[in-house]
Amino acid sequence: MAGKIIKVSGPLVVARGLVNPKMYEVVKVGTLRLFGEIIGLKADTASIQVYEQTEGLGPGEPVDNTGEQLSVDLGPGLLRQIYDGIQRPLDLISRKYGDFIPRGIEEPAISRETAWEFVPTAKPGNAVSGGTRLGYVQETEIVRHWILVPSGLSGTLRELRAGKFTVTEAIGTIVDESGAARDVRLSHRWPVRRGRPYARKLNPVEPLITGQRVLDTFFPLAKGGTACVPGPFGSGKTVVQHQLSKWADADIIVYVGCGERGNEMTDVLLEFPELKDPRTGKPLMERTVLIANTSNMPVAAREASVFTAITIAEYYRDMGYNVALMADSTSRWAEAMREISGRLEEMPGEEGYPAYLASRISEFYERAGRVVPLGAEGEATLSVIGAVSPPGGDLSDPVVQATLREVRVFWGLDAKLAYARHFPAINWLSSYSLYSDAMGAYYDARVSPEWIPHRASALRLLQEEAELEEIVRLVGVDSLSARDRLVLETARSIREDFLHQNAFHEVDTYSSLRKQFLMLRAILLHHELARQAIDGGAPLEAVLALRVNETIARLKYHPESEIDAIEAAYAEIRSAFASILPRGVSA
Ligand code: ADP
Repeated sequence: MAGKIIKVSGPLVVARGLVNPKMYEVVKVGTLRLFGEIIGLKADTASIQVYEQTEGLGPGEPVDNTGEQLSVDLGPGLLRQIYDGIQRPLDLISRKYGDFIPRGIEEPAISRETAWEFVPTAKPGNAVSGGTRLGYVQETEIVRHWILVPSGLSGTLRELRAGKFTVTEAIGTIVDESGAARDVRLSHRWPVRRGRPYARKLNPVEPLITGQRVLDTFFPLAKGGTACVPGPFGSGKTVVQHQLSKWADADIIVYVGCGERGNEMTDVLLEFPELKDPRTGKPLMERTVLIANTSNMPVAAREASVFTAITIAEYYRDMGYNVALMADSTSRWAEAMREISGRLEEMPGEEGYPAYLASRISEFYERAGRVVPLGAEGEATLSVIGAVSPPGGDLSDPVVQATLREVRVFWGLDAKLAYARHFPAINWLSSYSLYSDAMGAYYDARVSPEWIPHRASALRLLQEEAELEEIVRLVGVDSLSARDRLVLETARSIREDFLHQNAFHEVDTYSSLRKQFLMLRAILLHHELARQAIDGGAPLEAVLALRVNETIARLKYHPESEIDAIEAAYAEIRSAFASILPRGVSA
């Protein structure tokens, strides 16, 4: 006998009489069999969040439990897809049903018809366990999709077949420890609220290289790390996200969008499929999965979407890939939590958010990391970048505060900088990265032992600039010593010649770490020589009149293939100073 609805309140339905209901179990609600999930249980009364519009639903209608927790389909066919928050394939649905998703439909998240060429790599007779690689299919031209033994299954591989298979056909059998033969397939399901297991977690020690100088040099994110970026309107958030998706050295991108207004998400849905992968020249979608919530979708689906996204991201991590997940905006996600919690009549915490806001945010970011995947020797990473959009840009907002406690990088996008057309508009004073020092060994070995000291010197100059500007505001620039005025000059050069980076310029759009380092070094070399000249009595005007300033301003336009030319600029800088340096000091 099925349960019955006793109350409907927006996306929340209360039902009684379900047979042995479990928390987070998926249920089918009403005669339309709407998709829902149990989020509260008290005696025999279940609170259910419904992922579809509940209009017209009424008391007395049946509710059936399914025995399954909210889960996603994992297998080849995920890449290039655009899903909603509960992994319904939006492209396919709109082709089939038009722009409005009818209620109660059941479309598989990955095609049941496509046949994939499976290439076995494991040998029958061998012992296997969760995570063992069985073989692969070429999912897109650039991504090899490894088929792994699902976690929890171990035994002896009895049979493995090469050939074309759909995701539901058996590709082989494993005899498990109890002696039972278990079929293995190209796909399996996984509950979204449970992190996928891995063998070991490791500290992130390598940067996720983005080619964006302000990020890589000043506020680097580690592979497997977490970052938060506030996104005031017009601050260049979309451009930052596109740049990260295109250039970050991640193999797979998962993007989850929780739009405020319907059209915000439409932009993403239109723009993302147009992006080209600069490394392959192919569409970026070949290695991307998009999860889209628009404002006209029920809040419950938005609440689930970030877990759907991170589960898909973990799945590719388990294959050994470096995955980057971008969530925009997690504030919209938190608002979904608040709305549902309100309807459940839970005791509200700060700003009406549920008391478990912080723990839910932490459950999400905790799933980032650098790991040794199950059954593998190598490493893999899942990096998470969450955008936040607090009302009025107020960083004391509870969602921002809870996020900042979890993440280790903060990229402070700043509307004022964007207004002044300083792009990327990342505020160098408020931003931070707690990974920088832990990645010191990487920089020493791969770029230069001077990387960390240079970074520190440049940041110090920018801080000094901020302090000096305060003095200038009070008593005017004439009160500054030549040395202080030089600091202002160099800080300006760091901002304009180094931090400012045009995403739309074919060369400037990406800088390798080596190029970033050489550029910064040129600026610091100039500063050092200028300081010596000033200390030796040369007037600041003479320093500023040297033509090398232009040389420095042009460094960003040297293509990667010609970065040796940047080193050649050092000689030019030195010889320019030779004439004004005090006697006995050589440049
Ligand atoms: P948001 O998504 O925050 O509303 P956008 O990312 O659309 O803002 O950026 C607004 C505009 O700012 C862009 O159309 C572009 O002209 C400019 N812009 C942002 N970032 C850059 C950048 N790195 N280089 C050049 N222009 C930029």
